[in-house]
Amino acid sequence: MRSKNKPKSIVTGITGFAGSHMAELLLKEGHEVFGIHRWRSRSENIAHLNGRLHLIEADLLDLKSLQDVMISVRPDFIFHLAAQSFVPASWTAPTVTFETNVVGSCNLFESVRTAQIDPTIQIACSSEEYGLVYPQETPIKETNPLRPLSPYGVSKAAMDYMGYQYFKSYGLKIIRTRGFNHEGPRRGEVFVSSTFAKQIALIEKKLQPPVIKVGDLSTQRDFTDVRDMVHGYYLAALKCEPGEVYNICSGKAWMIQEVLDHLLSLSRVKKIKIRQDPTRIRPSDIPILLGDNTKFVKATGWKPKIKFEQTLLDTLNYWRARV
Ligand code: NDP
Repeated sequence: MRSKNKPKSIVTGITGFAGSHMAELLLKEGHEVFGIHRWRSRSENIAHLNGRLHLIEADLLDLKSLQDVMISVRPDFIFHLAAQSFVPASWTAPTVTFETNVVGSCNLFESVRTAQIDPTIQIACSSEEYGLVYPQETPIKETNPLRPLSPYGVSKAAMDYMGYQYFKSYGLKIIRTRGFNHEGPRRGEVFVSSTFAKQIALIEKKLQPPVIKVGDLSTQRDFTDVRDMVHGYYLAALKCEPGEVYNICSGKAWMIQEVLDHLLSLSRVKKIKIRQDPTRIRPSDIPILLGDNTKFVKATGWKPKIKFEQTLLDTLNYWRARV
């Protein structure tokens, strides 16, 4: 049943990690939520929202399917979170990454333009766009040069600039957010804190020998809880300037080694060995991504509320309940 008074929001990537949390937040804020999914999409992340969402089948790579969605929903807001989001997969499948993130985003913008609607559109750009960052450039401001070091980073930079171009050329109300790493329950199992937490949960249940496989532990990342991140996306859509770009980050860096150490300290099994897995080492990695959120905080008043220690505990408990 469609409500006349509620704001209507479309979430692309609703079956993913951030998209599922975004959907929860929007429902809490009284929005009517429309999620774009594909026929093969896994629905476990949104199973608990069954009956409260409108799920519409569409694919970023199919312009017509997106046009049909825009014409039928006529949204007030779009949160564009769908992507090929895994950096390592962008080396094994660079063109698929480009198609999904660049062509797919272009299709989304075109579907809005041709439907002649005027929603506010938040697009999930990434700190990976900054890529190579010199020590004197941290914490990273939005004005830093983009020197992406992965096909994923390049694809996100292209989407970012395309968002700028569609604002300038056609007046689409696109707000570009450069999210730094966010973690939490439902994070895909291949991502760093999630893979550590899942392995610990498996070891606790004796389903894996007490050895954790790791990649490079020396890199540093600026982590935010996913629930704070999607709140940031929401505030961005309400309060930020179309055409502008904003970092969303905590402003604190954790070394990956520290993330592992903290999760190990939460483990019920105390003797766990660490083994380097060469397949987890990237062809080129970014040593440090530490962001400056001043511009975003000034525009929105956003403040992360959840400590990263809590995020890690929640992630571990999520895996404990699942393995
Ligand atoms: P996930 O990989 O968990 O989710 C990606 C979503 O995109 C899935 O729902 C997937 O659907 C959907 N999708 C992929 N291809 C298509 C397509 N062709 N058509 C329609 N839907 C598609 O990613 P996250 O939730 O972690 O990330 C959300 C966004 O935030 C992404 O754009 C990511 O690049 C960006 N980001 C994430 C960061 C992080 O730390 N998490 C950091 C910075 C940016 P399906 O289930 O069908 O595969």
